[in-house]
Formats: sequence, C-alpha cells, structure tokens
Amino acid sequence: MPKSPSKTIAKKASKPNRLEDKLARLGLRSDMDLLLHLPMRYEDETEIMPMRDAGFMAGNTAQVEGVVTSCDIQYRPRRQLVVTLSDDSSQLILRFLNFYGSQTKQLAEGARVRARGEVRHGFFGPEMVHPAYKVVEEGAALPEALTPVYPAGEGVSQTVLRKAIADAMKRMDWHDTLPDSLRSGLGLMRFEPAIRLLHNPPPDVDEHALIERTHPAWTRMKFDELLAQQLSLKRAQAARRLKGAAALSIRGTLFQAFLATLPFKLTGAQERVLKEIQHDISESYPMQRLLQGDVGSGKTIVAALAAAQAIDSGYQAALMAPTEILAEQHFRKITQWLEPLGVKVAWLTGSLKKKEKTEAQAMIESGEAQLVVGTHAVIQEAVQFPKLGLVIVDEQHRFGVGQRLALRNKGMEGKIVPHQLMMSATPIPRTLAMTYYADLEVSVIDELPPGRTPIVTRVIDQNRRDEVIDRIHVAAREGRQVYWVCPLIEESEALQLQTATETHQTLVEALPDLRVGLVHGRLKPAEKQLVMDAFSRGEVHVLVATTVIEVGVDVPNASLMVIEHAERFGLSQLHQLRGRIGRGSAASVCLLMYQGPLGIVAKERLAIMRETTDGFEIARRDLQIRGPGDFLGARQSGEALLRFADLEGDQPLVEQARDVAQRLLQEDLATVEAHLARWLGGREDYLKV
Ligand code: ADP
Ligand code: MG
Repeated sequence: MPKSPSKTIAKKASKPNRLEDKLARLGLRSDMDLLLHLPMRYEDETEIMPMRDAGFMAGNTAQVEGVVTSCDIQYRPRRQLVVTLSDDSSQLILRFLNFYGSQTKQLAEGARVRARGEVRHGFFGPEMVHPAYKVVEEGAALPEALTPVYPAGEGVSQTVLRKAIADAMKRMDWHDTLPDSLRSGLGLMRFEPAIRLLHNPPPDVDEHALIERTHPAWTRMKFDELLAQQLSLKRAQAARRLKGAAALSIRGTLFQAFLATLPFKLTGAQERVLKEIQHDISESYPMQRLLQGDVGSGKTIVAALAAAQAIDSGYQAALMAPTEILAEQHFRKITQWLEPLGVKVAWLTGSLKKKEKTEAQAMIESGEAQLVVGTHAVIQEAVQFPKLGLVIVDEQHRFGVGQRLALRNKGMEGKIVPHQLMMSATPIPRTLAMTYYADLEVSVIDELPPGRTPIVTRVIDQNRRDEVIDRIHVAAREGRQVYWVCPLIEESEALQLQTATETHQTLVEALPDLRVGLVHGRLKPAEKQLVMDAFSRGEVHVLVATTVIEVGVDVPNASLMVIEHAERFGLSQLHQLRGRIGRGSAASVCLLMYQGPLGIVAKERLAIMRETTDGFEIARRDLQIRGPGDFLGARQSGEALLRFADLEGDQPLVEQARDVAQRLLQEDLATVEAHLARWLGGREDYLKV
C-alpha cells in the first residue's frame, strides 16, 4: 500500500507537544496571562540549615547541603537507594524508594548535593524520603527570593512555568496603567513591583498576607482587575445608548384602561419600579433592567403593565418563563387581564403540536399577536417578530448564558433593539449585581402586598412523619390546601420520580377522605395543567410535587407546605419553594422535614430558613456560605470574571474601582484605553451577556 504523505504531515501537525500549546491549555496565551498566573504558595530555598539543626526539625521542611559520603542500593525491606550526606555539623540520610540507575552516578561519593524535604527520624538518625535535590558546586549561590509554586498542568512542570514567566517578565512593557497621582492617592503599590513581589517575594515577606491575599501587592492586582471590569461595563452601557429602540409612549389608552380594572391597588414599591421601567422604555435606546422582588412581591403585574405600554405604541411584547408550568400561569393570568381589553395574546412553547405552533407563529409574524407568552421556544423557534418592542424574561437567572445571548440577538438584525426587562426572585446582592450583571439597571420591589400573614417555619425530624401527616389532615379538613414537596435526588431523575409516586401513594392511603394530586416533570403539559387547575380551584387538597413547583406557581389558598429531606436543598431553592405559600390571608406554615444527622452547613441552612423569610437576608447568608461563583452557578457566571478580587471580602475595593472608573471615563480616556488593553485584551465579549 502506498504511503500517503499528507497523512504523515497531518499527524505531525496535530502533535500537541509544543510548549505554547501546553501553556495555552492552562489558559496562558499572552505575556500578561503568564504574569497573572500567580503562585499558589512559596518554598523557602534561600537558606541552608546545618544538619545538626535539621535533626531537630522532624515533621518540618528544611534545606541542607553536604557531600555524599556513601551511596548504596539496599534490598531490605525493599530495593532502595540510600545516600548519606555530611556537612561540618552532622550527617543526614536521603532515601529513594523509586530511583533511576543514573541517580546512583549522580549521587556518587564525593558529590556536593543540596536537598530539600521533610525531615523525619529514621532508624539511623534524621533522614529525608524523596527530597527535592540538585548537585551543586561548592559556594553555589542561593536564591534571593522565595521560590514560587504555580498551579501546573499536564506536561508543564514548575521549571517550565518559572522560565516562561521569567521570559514574559523580560519582554513585558512595564509602564503603570494608573497615573502616579491617582495610584498614590489610593495608596496602591506600583504595578511592576507588585507583580514581581508576587512571583518572587523576598525572604522576609509576610507570607501569611501573601497566601491570604491581603498583602498590598495583592490589593493592587485586585484593584486593577475590578477597575478593568467596571470600565468595560460602563463602556458597554455607553455602546447600548447608541443603539436605537422604540420609544414607547407613557400612559396610552390600554395602559390606563388596564390600570383602572386592576383588582387591587399597587404597592408603593410596585408604583416606584413601574415608573422606573416606564421611563426607560419611553427612551429611544434599549432598556436593560433587572426587576428584583422577593417571591410573591407582585412582579407579574408590573411586567404586564409595561407590556401594555408597548402595545399602546403599536409594538409587540414577549414574555418568557423558564418552565412550562410558570409560562402557562402567566398566560392564563395575562389573558384574564388583557383579553377583555381587546389584546391578542399568543401562546408558544416547545411542546405545542406542529399545527398549533404554525398558527402561533403566523399570528406573531403577521403582527396580529400583540403579546406572546411562552417558554424559551419564543426565542428558539424560527419566530420573526415584525415589531418587537419589549422582551420580558421571568426568573431570568434560570436561563443559561446561551439563551440570554440568543435573546439579546433577537430583533438585533433590524435597526431597533427591543427593550429588555428581566425579573428575578433570587435577590442578587448589590456587589454582585454591580459586577456580574454587566450593564444592568436594577429595580427592587422591597415590599409585599398588604394582608399577607408571615410564614412560620418549623424544622422537624422525619421520624415524626406520622405527626406531620395528622397535621395536614386537620388543616385540609379546615379547607386549607397543602403542598408536599418530594426530596431532590440529584443523581437520578428516575429515582426522584419513583419517590414522588410512592409518596403520593402513601398519602392517598393515609388520607382517604382527601384528594391528593401528583405533579412532576415527566407529566405531559396537558396532564400537568389538569392537576394544577384542580389544585387552583381547590378540588385537590394535597398536591404532591417535585421541584417543578419551585418557581412562580401561585395558588393563594395553599397555606401549608411540607418539604421532605429539606437538608438536600440549597437555601435559595428552599426560599423559592416556601414562597409558594403565604400568599393569601391565612397564616401559613412551612415544615422542613430532615433526616439526621445533619452536617454543619445543612444545619445552618435550616436555621437560617427558620429565622427569616426575607429573601435578601437569605441571599446574603447564602453568599457567605457558598461564595459568589457558586451563588450564580458556573452556568450563569460563564467564564469566571474575577480571578483575584472577592466580591464579599473586597467590597470597599469594588466601590473604589467603580468611582475611579467613573472619573477616568470623564477625564482620562488614554488611561482607560491603556488599562483595558492590558487587562482584557480581546475578552470583553462575555461581559455583555
Ligand atoms: P412574584 O413577584 O413572585 O412573581 P406574583 O406576581 O406572582 O409575584 O404576585 C403574587 C400574588 O400577589 C399574585 O396573586 C398577585 O395577583 C398578587 N398581587 C400582586 N400585586 C398585588 C397588590 N398590589 N396587592 C394585592 N395583591 C397583589
Ligand atoms: Mg413570578
């Protein structure tokens, strides 16, 4: 068979052996990437310890130097290389259980060796097992700085990294991106000495401060990073203002008519956020606003009013929700409110039959549908909105970055960009909103509609399950409705389903005079709807549910909730679930059933749930337990935005960076450019999601 020359070439080209490729796999592409690859810890190789002193150091690391006085391969208890090293004070044994033949030559009698490792007491005195060592000349210089230990990767050793970083330092253009006056005014270290210190700290450095990242050199890194982030956010914001959007006129006829027919009076907080939104969407550049409000605070009506403003101006509005149940609830509520006023509402989800889908799409594309409600199908399907003026995304944090990007691009083809209103019941702490959520205005509903009675939460061991069942029996006979939430089983959806079915069966048997319904993620939408409807109408007394009811479900008469294996849920999830009750005037009770023994974190979570129903407080405590990255979930945060700063711990720096960013954008664009070029290179895109 003839050899194919092209094949050989292809093979060679794909060999991932080049240093650059290996470094790239660690995310190290530019010199700046290398400089910002900071050590995890340091080793002190700046001193040699006399062997006699090292002998008292058992359990600690020491560096010694001496001459080899013997080098033998021993066979008992197993094959090993045993080297005796002597200096003026004493001697020490180096023991190698795995070794190459070449090492016997390298460590031959008479060689001078510098070794570093943990000292332990051996049978023949102090020894080191598998120390790091090198053969040196007499009087060879010691390093003047601590030796960095970097996060390394496959095929990239510490030596390789140290050299690559040292080379990058030689090539680096070290100018400081911060003008001197600004820098010294903030009490920050200069850029170059800060970076150099972090890579090669002097032996007398406060090592604790380095590891804890409180050293001034770290402060400089964190500040620079936060400043870059704030600058790019503000620039994205400025860019958005240059785009066109439909200026939707305030207080048109539909809006007024809708307001007049509301079954309740808006709360002060609802009035306030509505004004903010109305004002924004009356501008001719696209709004991007996050509406935060605790569960039950009444975000839906605010969204519907905003939609009315769009329709008033002859534009279409779209409302998306992350789950079908939630979308359906919105659809029913909104048609109830707006159809009597003559608004055409279309319904669009992935599970629609082909024919229904085509009909909905036709209605949207002809412009007949003024409002579209649905799941992410609204953006995924090939739907063309001729005049999309406003997009509302409920529970926006549950949509992934990809879906948010698709949404962002929807309607981008044309000249106008739709206004965006995002809603979330997961309150995002201020620093997070300022940083993770690029270029976002935030409105907060910080008040619940009147007449709600606070929820009482109790934590109960699950061996008292029978008591709990008795209790719901009594409550249901009094006309109250009950949610029974089945445990979250992350490993297996099938198992979760099985548990829900079994729980349902148990409750049906235990409560023969009550109607017990079951709803879970595997039901067909129509079946789900049947159960939810019956529950809404009060015909089903107890609703056994998986976490599909987590978001948005609104049945005000339900006032008792049991959550099984509450210890398996996260705080925000528990809060979301609990938010399904306490919506009517009846006093509500939430029973968190757990299976002991509880771990420390689970115990703390349940205690927090018992202590407070305030979503913001819960989010704050959640952030403390989990840290910001995990708070949003990797899915949400995309590429980790902040490598050095910690939003909770470095809050003052965040504020400082924000103020400086503001000032620089007004006064010193050259500095802005220089700083962004150094810190972001070409990676600004992810900030815009
Ligand atoms: P969420 O903010 O969790 O989405 P909803 O919009 O579902 O909350 O509202 C929760 C419940 O409160 C709904 O039944 C809604 O009709 C009712 N509601 C909203 N605003 C008010 C108000 N100002 N006064 C009385 N009830 C209200
Ligand atoms: Mg809602």
